Amino acid sequence: MAKRRPFLDLFLPPRCPYCGKVLPYGRTDCPDCTPVKPDTFWGAIPQPDGEVLPCAAPFRYQGAIRQALLRFKFRGEVELADFFAGYIAQIAEEQELPFTVLTNVPISPWRKLRRGYDQGALLARAAAKCIRAPYRPLLRRRRHIRQQHFLLSTRARWDNVRNAFAVRPRAKVRGEYVLLIDDIATTGATLSACAQALRQAGAKGVVCLTAALAGRRIRP
Ligand SMILES: [Zn+2]
Repeated sequence: MAKRRPFLDLFLPPRCPYCGKVLPYGRTDCPDCTPVKPDTFWGAIPQPDGEVLPCAAPFRYQGAIRQALLRFKFRGEVELADFFAGYIAQIAEEQELPFTVLTNVPISPWRKLRRGYDQGALLARAAAKCIRAPYRPLLRRRRHIRQQHFLLSTRARWDNVRNAFAVRPRAKVRGEYVLLIDDIATTGATLSACAQALRQAGAKGVVCLTAALAGRRIRP
């Protein structure tokens, strides 16, 4: 998994993706953690038009993976993008998902300024690099919305994201098959809102891939 890069390691010592501790020099695995085995978890997100939006993830949102994603999202551990993107790319290849472009669920410019990075964009870029496919930022936030993470009910989450996303002014979406990337799928409301914006702009198909699935485990 983690490759040693002698020069870079002095400045950016590799960390265990599960507990976040710096690995002992010369080791690529953590003495304290057992790696979580990835799988392909499918979810089906119901769409307002009655269609179903397929979503897959290599992990369930629990235990060490949940901790890792919280550090990735809120604590600046951006190198975790490579760790998760590798498994996301693996699903895209193994499942032979049809796509012509990768994009991400965007965070608001305000939040990006505060956090310093857009975790979804990091994941999508890294995954695109793994599978040698084009990455393009196709979506933007139309307005600032409350962070889904802190909204508990499904209803509140769906209401919060309705019409919150739009396709960027000069983005080419018509005729594309889009692989939509995000960190976590919980109710699927955000992914659904993004998929709707993409379809309205002429996307032929949208499939979602996230690092972890928090919702139901169903295979469409
Ligand atoms: Zn560890």
